[in-house]
Amino acid sequence: MSINIIPTIDLLYAGQVPLIPAYAPAPNGQMSDTRGRLLGDLRISVTDRCNFRCTYCMPKEVFGKGYQYLPQSELLSFDEITRMARLFVAHGVTKIRLTGGEPLLRKNLEVLVKMLAALKTPDDKPLDIALTTNATLLPKKVKALKAAGLNRITVSLDSLDEVTFRAMNDVNFPVADVLKGIDAAHGAGFSAIKINMVVKKGVNDQDVVAMARHFKGSGHIVRFIEFMDVGSSNGWRMKDVISSAEIVRMVNADMPLVQAQSNYSGEVAKRWNYADGSGEIGVISSVTQAFCSTCTRTRLSTDGKLYTCLFAQSGHDLRALMRSGKSDMQITRAIGLIWNQREDRYSQLRTEETTGRKKVEMSYIGG
Ligand code: SAM
Ligand code: SF4
Ligand code: SF4
Repeated sequence: MSINIIPTIDLLYAGQVPLIPAYAPAPNGQMSDTRGRLLGDLRISVTDRCNFRCTYCMPKEVFGKGYQYLPQSELLSFDEITRMARLFVAHGVTKIRLTGGEPLLRKNLEVLVKMLAALKTPDDKPLDIALTTNATLLPKKVKALKAAGLNRITVSLDSLDEVTFRAMNDVNFPVADVLKGIDAAHGAGFSAIKINMVVKKGVNDQDVVAMARHFKGSGHIVRFIEFMDVGSSNGWRMKDVISSAEIVRMVNADMPLVQAQSNYSGEVAKRWNYADGSGEIGVISSVTQAFCSTCTRTRLSTDGKLYTCLFAQSGHDLRALMRSGKSDMQITRAIGLIWNQREDRYSQLRTEETTGRKKVEMSYIGG
């Protein structure tokens, strides 16, 4: 169901500060965009910093010593993040993912998790709160995160081969320490941990089968992600992409697979079960098989801008609304207006021209 917003506008500022309609129906958890997609997921980047320099995300040549990260005062505080989350939940968000940058670099993240876990959907259900992390700080933090109410963890790991992984994270971080992070999460009570592997031709495609084999039977789920043209600094080229179809072919040749049903409508990964019943893998085909038609995701950047697509070129400054004293209802209306007007489907429209456009970096917008 879509909500019609009466277009009587209180224009606050020029630029990226969203318009606030004077009248709008109260949010009822059913906010639809121009393509009938309901708002369902909010990804929050809690820091634009990271202790890795993955070559496909924060290459050292761009994110080197002189790189200007956001100063502390620009970051949303935990109170501001929780307030925003509450307003998005009123519009239908049921899943929140904390990401970054490396989210565990944000001090006391478990405090934020606890604040978010106290929120309820309009029909009084708890939220699904997830974290995407490179796992380096999991051994230290995971118990506190679990106790605070974190529901799910995704760990990024691009290779089990020591040389390849150290080269891809580009800070010489060892594989064994990521595996320790995964074990710590498992020990703290997290199951079916998702393991994200970004596959880049000529870099780690030779490690796809070994990754699948390592986690087969463990209860964890490896998800192979096509290398994407996010941001403007990773030197993306179509010829560096290994398609999901090719990945499934590689794994299937070694360990037979059968296609599985999606868990829910709009699930990003296509699921494949091992034919012998020993688990599953997923493939995320943002480049070769776009899934924009069911995309219910929106993103809140580290400094409080709302981006309705991972490949957006600009965002809407919700922090400006908050810090200028706007009420919950005014900000709620702005969020509703933005989602109602959303048309994004970048991956469906991707061309040579669009891949070269200046887009926001993934570490800032949140992966
Ligand atoms: N630092 C955390 C981590 O790596 O898990 C969270 C943020 S990271 C930006 C979130 C996810 O985006 C990771 O799984 C990462 O592999 C993925 N990612 C980053 N750049 C990508 C790219 N160019 N193509 C595909 N996936 C990418
Ligand atoms: Fe950091 Fe994650 Fe980006 Fe790697 S993918 S540089 S760990 S934010
Ligand atoms: Fe969603 Fe944009 Fe990705 Fe399409 S390209 S699936 S609209 S985030």
